[in-house]
Parts: sequence; C-alpha cells; structure tokens
Amino acid sequence: MFDSIKKMFSAEDEPVNTTGKPDISREKSAELYAKAQTYFPGGVNSPVRAFKSVYGTPLFIQKGDGSHIWDADGNEFIDFCCSWGPLILGHNNAKVREKVIEVMQNGMSFGAPTALENELAELILKNNKFIEKIRFVSSGTEAVMSAIRLARGYTKRDKILKFEGCYHGHADALLVKAGSGLVTFGETSSAGVPKSVADETIVVALNDKEALAKAFEEFKDQIAAVIIEPVPANNGLLLQEKEYLQYLRDICTQNGTMLIFDEVISGFRVGFEGAAGYYQIKPDIITYGKIIGGGMPVGAYGSSAAIMSNISPEGSVYQAGTLSGNPVAMGAGIAQLSELLRIGFYRDLNNKTEEFVEAIQRFATARNYKFKVFGIGSIFWFAFTDKEYIRKAEDIDASSMEKFKKFHRELLNRGIYLGPSGYEVGFISSAHTKIDLEKTKRAIFDSLDLVFNGK
Ligand SMILES: *Cc1c(COP(=O)(O)O)cnc(C)c1O
Repeated sequence: MFDSIKKMFSAEDEPVNTTGKPDISREKSAELYAKAQTYFPGGVNSPVRAFKSVYGTPLFIQKGDGSHIWDADGNEFIDFCCSWGPLILGHNNAKVREKVIEVMQNGMSFGAPTALENELAELILKNNKFIEKIRFVSSGTEAVMSAIRLARGYTKRDKILKFEGCYHGHADALLVKAGSGLVTFGETSSAGVPKSVADETIVVALNDKEALAKAFEEFKDQIAAVIIEPVPANNGLLLQEKEYLQYLRDICTQNGTMLIFDEVISGFRVGFEGAAGYYQIKPDIITYGKIIGGGMPVGAYGSSAAIMSNISPEGSVYQAGTLSGNPVAMGAGIAQLSELLRIGFYRDLNNKTEEFVEAIQRFATARNYKFKVFGIGSIFWFAFTDKEYIRKAEDIDASSMEKFKKFHRELLNRGIYLGPSGYEVGFISSAHTKIDLEKTKRAIFDSLDLVFNGK
C-alpha cells in the first residue's frame, strides 16, 4: 500500500517518513483529484484547496459532524479549518440544519423580499451598535467590493488605501500588493487586473504610523477609503495594537476618509460585534461574510442609516444580486447567529481557545523550539518564529514554511486537519470538546518534536 501512495507524490514530496510509519491512505482522494483536474483549473474551485504549500494530494471531504470530518478514504480528522471560518458551531449543527430544511420546504429562491431577511437583519442590528442599516450579498468579496463603491460614491473620491498582508477577497481593486518604498501605488498581484485599477490603490505596511501619515500627505483629499482587516487573519495572524487602530480611525476622520473594517473573518468571531466591539472602535463601514451565513454563501455590509441611504434604490450607488438575501441562506444565518447570542457563548469558546494556545506555547517554550502560537478570540496561528510579535507581513519568515509543511503532514497522520498553508489561521468551534483539544495537543507535541528533532 505504501508504494502505491508513494507513487502519487512527486519526487519533491518523497516521504521523509519521520515516524517510520506510512502516511494515511489518500488513494480515493487522489483518484478524485485526478478527475477534478480534468474539470477545473488546478483541480479546484478555490486555489488554496489544491494543497500546493503542503505535502500530498488534497483530501476530498465526504462529511462533517461537530468538530470532525471524514475524507473519501474514510480517514477521520479533528477539523481546525472549519470551512475557513464560517463554522463557529462546528459541522452539521442540528439547529442550523433543521432551520435550513424547514425553510427549504417552501422553496429556495424568489427574487422578492422575504421575512427571513428582516429577521436576520434584526438579529444583527439589535445586537451591534456599530451599524444601523445593512445590505446582504452572497460572498465576502462582494461585500468588500460594494463597500468600496459606497465609500467612493459617498466621498466622491477615487483612491483607496489597503495594507500589505490584508486579504479582502478577489475584487480587482484589492488584488494589489506593495511595491518598494514606504508609500506605494500598488502593483497588481494577479494577471488580468488593469494597471489603471491598481493605480487607484495605495498600499502601506501594517503597524506603521509614519507610512500612513505620509500617504495622507501625499494623496491629500484623494483617499475615499482605508480598508483594513482589524484582525488581519489571512496572512498569518498579524495582531494590531488598539492604539494603532485608533490612530487609523483618527487620521481617517481628520481627512474625510471612510474607514472600512473588513470583518469577514473577525465579525461574529472575536465577539458578536466583531473587532469593532473588541477594540471599541467605530469604523464607517463594516463588511461581513463567513460566519454570518451559517455555512451558506452570505456576505453583508453595513453602516449608519445616512451613509447606507446612498445605496440604490434609495441613492445613486448601484449594487444588486439575484440571490442576495436568499431565504435558505438567511435561515442558516438566523439559526447560527441565534446560538452565538446565548449568554456565555463567546466567553466559553474564547477561554477554551486561550487554554489550548497557552498549553501549546508552554510546551514549545520549555523545549526552546522556535515556535509561537498567536491567538485572539477563537482564532489561532502557528508560527515557526522566535519573534515575540508579528504585526506586519514582512516579519513572517518565508523559509519557516518548510517546517509548517512537515508539521501539517505529521498532524494529518495523527488525525488533525489544519488549513493547508502556514499562512492560514486555525479556528476553534463550540463543537470542539475537551477530549478533542487534548488529543490535538498531544498530536501537536509529537509533531513538533519530529519537526525540530527529526525523530
Ligand atoms: C474570506 C475573506 C474575504 C473574501 O470572502 P469570500 O466569501 O471568500 O469572497 C474577504 N475579506 C476577508 C477578511 C476574508 O477573510
């Protein structure tokens, strides 16, 4: 069996076989992946799923329940990817599932308003003091794209400013990375993005007040919006200090620039009010995605009633969607967010995560491993570093990703599923039990020993 598996990997993936045991079987997944490659570019419908930064073939998932998932070969894992964040209640949560089934009995889409949209909006707006009106869309990308158009329409300015190391989905204006220099026009980070679009996007480093001040000086009265992940969690976990975020808030206010918090990950994750609530900083526009749809495709953006009145059909900023506010997706969102509003939900989830993070850090520190676990709310990130903090993208050591690759493989072999890249964070759900986390810690300890000592 081992030989047949070995054949499926390229020479560079030749098993290091640190454990002396064969890797888990991926025969069925490999078959499905081969077929998928004939249908989809790279065999996937979203690039990171192709396992390009880790060892082996992507696992094709057959089912999930609570904190566990099963792949096509019948391997069982404790899942810390959780669909990249949406599944804060774990897989196949009964309340969410039952609500979806109930709504589906009456049809799946009407292209006309339903009471369910009101219900989800009310759940959110009643429990979030940072926005007064909301508009539902179908993905995080769409939410961000619309928020930017709103900011441009409202301020009648064209430029936007983003930060190196923050991800905001795949809209053209945001597929832009820093060039060289303190304040730069972006360079496109994807083919197909016109230079003229990238020229409207300014990119600066996170945690750098000087760069920010310089950008506002250089582009005085031109910047419509600054967009930031207040909890940057798409390129490692680059936790910012509150004082920096407050500085950002103030400089935007002074310059008539809208501050957009992209809370597609942090919204409903670090607390029901997301990062705005966590830091008690009020942005002008907030975008949501992931958790808001309970595992269904939902995004949203919200702001004050006055600013939202610029959106069509009330105002002149056009934005629409055939499946926006889809009843089934609204149902999933309603069921999931209702659970999050239970007293103690976040306290318990966040405490559980903090204990997990601290136990792993204690182990690594005791052994002098160059390894840090960063965490906030129920998000964690494993970094092969000895830096005390990593607050900007350039502080991540790209060569450390080799260690992550081994680590990821050892964890899969021990029944632990992490997102397939060292730049991705992990998520803990309310479905993760004490036993799950104990088992995971042991697997992590063993895997770290192997990664650092090769035994
Ligand atoms: C995931 C994510 C997006 C994109 O959302 P999609 O639903 O994948 O389009 C945008 N911004 C942030 C911060 C995200 O984490």
